[in-house]
Amino acid sequence: MQEAKKIKVDYLYNLKIRLTAMDIFKPLDLQKDAWNNTNIEIIEKVRCLIIGSGPAGYTAAIYASRANLNPVLYTGLEMGGQLTTTTEVDNYPGYPDGITGPLMMENFKKQAERFGADIRFGIATAADFSGKKHKVTFDDNKTIEADSVIIATGATAKYLGLESEIKYAGMGVSACATCDGFFYRGKDVAVVGGGDTAAEEATYLAGLCSKVYLIVRRDVLRASKAMQHKVFKTSNIEILWEHQVVDLFGENGVEGANLIKKKGNSEEKTVKIQINGFFLAIGHTPNSMVFKQYIKTDKIGYIKTVRGTSKTNIEGVFAAGDVQDPNYRQAVTAAGSGCMAAIDAERYLSELK
Ligand code: FAD
Ligand code: NAP
Repeated sequence: MQEAKKIKVDYLYNLKIRLTAMDIFKPLDLQKDAWNNTNIEIIEKVRCLIIGSGPAGYTAAIYASRANLNPVLYTGLEMGGQLTTTTEVDNYPGYPDGITGPLMMENFKKQAERFGADIRFGIATAADFSGKKHKVTFDDNKTIEADSVIIATGATAKYLGLESEIKYAGMGVSACATCDGFFYRGKDVAVVGGGDTAAEEATYLAGLCSKVYLIVRRDVLRASKAMQHKVFKTSNIEILWEHQVVDLFGENGVEGANLIKKKGNSEEKTVKIQINGFFLAIGHTPNSMVFKQYIKTDKIGYIKTVRGTSKTNIEGVFAAGDVQDPNYRQAVTAAGSGCMAAIDAERYLSELK
């Protein structure tokens, strides 16, 4: 119990760092600087390098260790990944009573360590996949040369940038309705955004909650016509057109939000809504920038993999988890694709010999 408490404190601290230090993921600039830095030396050669410590990275590490690939895993800034920013995880199979995200990720780590995975703290700041040996630089100063690389760097939900989003993280603010909606059954909530994700999340929440406000900054939805139709015909969704969120308030969690309607217009006015849950659905940023010079992505930045595999366009470089998944973005799917990546890496390495 004591351990769970400590992990939770650590994760809240990490979340604050993450939300305030988002620009850690500006790797293209870092990449240029890193390769201009003549002090970088190759310090180590490894067979299997795993980047990222979420469900995808740790699962890849479990499988790669058991296949004797002696994997080295770099955790990145957010040790344990996105799940360390949530409290209860109720939908991961094998935990009939649920488990906290931080504790679950600690278990993933322990399991990977049990089989000998070498887990290190470090952020990938540059990559060179131009040759047969793949080079990745960490923290701008140490370069690993790897026969195979598994990219499992996840995707980061976008936030509005309000102080109160940090204050109420895990206490009413969420970026995942599928994950957290259950906790708001019978309550009033709001979803921010006007795209397909917002429409989908609002419709999903409408099935659980009394009322869903959909807060849209323009007077139109970006979502597809089919998704819009679903929203319009759901009676407990109220769309607040041309509204922007200014602040959240509440004593021990979110109790409401202050909005501005028609900001900068002569009809501008302030609006207050009472809600218990505040869901961000304004897009995700896949953490693929460091690799973008070599690895093919879609226009948002999700790494493209060969259908049904974890293979990227570069031989020996594999991708797993949210960084290559615009559709599902769940812990269990990330873990499943981490397993695929380790198996793909093992087969690739056995053919290299
Ligand atoms: P992530 O968990 O995002 O991990 C990415 C890892 O990559 C991190 O360790 C990070 O430090 C590392 N990294 C990033 N950039 C670099 C770099 N440059 N160098 C080195 N490392 C790097 N899913 C569920 O199934 N159930 C839930 O209940 C649930 N709840 C959620 C609640 C919240 C608030 C959020 C945000 C998400 C939730 N999800 C849930 C979704 C789930 O967390 C993700 O689908 C899952 O974590 C994705 O796993 P991943 O391994 O691909 O990436
Ligand atoms: P998106 O299409 O980029 O939409 C983001 C939405 O958030 C937009 O409506 C945008 O407003 C709004 N937004 C952005 N920043 C904001 C801010 N600071 N304040 C208020 N609103 C803000 O992202 P998405 O909805 O996550 O979708 C991403 C991709 O996945 C899309 O290609 C989508 O089609 C796809 N997707 C498909 C499905 C499906 O088919 N079932 C489901 C989910 C996602 P503006 O419109 O004003 O720019």
